[in-house]
Amino acid sequence: MTSHIDPDGDAIGSVFAFAMALGSLGKEATVYLRDKVPYRYEFLPSPDRVIHTLPVGKYDAVFILDCGSLFRVGSGHDRIGAMGPVVNIDHHDTNDHFGMIDIVDSGASSTGEIIYRLLKPLGVKVSADMAVNLYTAVFTDTGSLRYDNASLEAFRICEEMVKAGVKPSRVATMVYESHPRERFLLLGEVLRTLTTYGDRIAVARVTSDMFERTGTNREFTDGFVEFIKEIRGIEVAVLIREIDKGNHKVSMRGKGTVDVAAVCNAFGGGGHRNAAGCRIEGTMKETEEKLLQALAPEGCMKDGENSAELSLMDGEAET
Ligand code: 5GP
Ligand code: MN
Repeated sequence: MTSHIDPDGDAIGSVFAFAMALGSLGKEATVYLRDKVPYRYEFLPSPDRVIHTLPVGKYDAVFILDCGSLFRVGSGHDRIGAMGPVVNIDHHDTNDHFGMIDIVDSGASSTGEIIYRLLKPLGVKVSADMAVNLYTAVFTDTGSLRYDNASLEAFRICEEMVKAGVKPSRVATMVYESHPRERFLLLGEVLRTLTTYGDRIAVARVTSDMFERTGTNREFTDGFVEFIKEIRGIEVAVLIREIDKGNHKVSMRGKGTVDVAAVCNAFGGGGHRNAAGCRIEGTMKETEEKLLQALAPEGCMKDGENSAELSLMDGEAET
């Protein structure tokens, strides 16, 4: 069982809960995640076998959760098809149905919701540990039950998980209020790059130098793009993160009017209408220009404002 690189709460919570569920049915599930569990999700109860090196060998089934495309599993994804029949369980609008079996519902709030739905027919009783994982999956992927996907069903699942023993305040504290101090040094640097275009697009940038200066890494940027989305009037928030020279990871968030998954999909990425990502080759400046060009037809830039860069902070924005 596996999920995507840079795993989020839905990826980890869903995989952990489903591995535990299969374990309770007497199946031996091995969880493979390319990346280590980010610090904010280390509190999640883990199933027995979690590995970070792609195993070799054959399996009865390979479950891939919360991945719109097979490559999101990380390097070695091309070997996965040979390991066993692939079951693709996901809720991304842009899912490309790479499985032998595809359980894809873009109407589901989260992959956690789909896993939850599978438990009853499988005859699995939700344990307290499963409940924390499922609650965290649904709660984080709905932006703490604030986004459009915070459906009645999402609330119902959270209610049921609380009944099964989850303490919401503990999850919130662990996920949102347990950051190392260094994260805020990084946030300070990133916010100094904040630039708005036509009052509707906000862009912030993260360079490798910033990670070095602040003693942080990419997992510390989790939540930054949601933060700049909080600016009044902003329709699209963009965080551009340097992976290495000439290679950038883009995180995009929308507030409803622009389909950011479609914009990211044009660059080979994907996601959801209001939360998506992609990778773009080129310098930071080239990457930003490509993104602004792609966003222009979405009506996010008023006429003549394509080049009118308005930095929110004094001085030149760092690139
Ligand atoms: P994030 O910006 O937090 O990395 O991702 C936001 C959403 O877009 C998540 O649902 C994530 O799975 C999806 N996403 C991010 N990057 C990519 C990408 O490169 N390709 C695809 N298909 N989806 C992505
Ligand atoms: Mn998800």
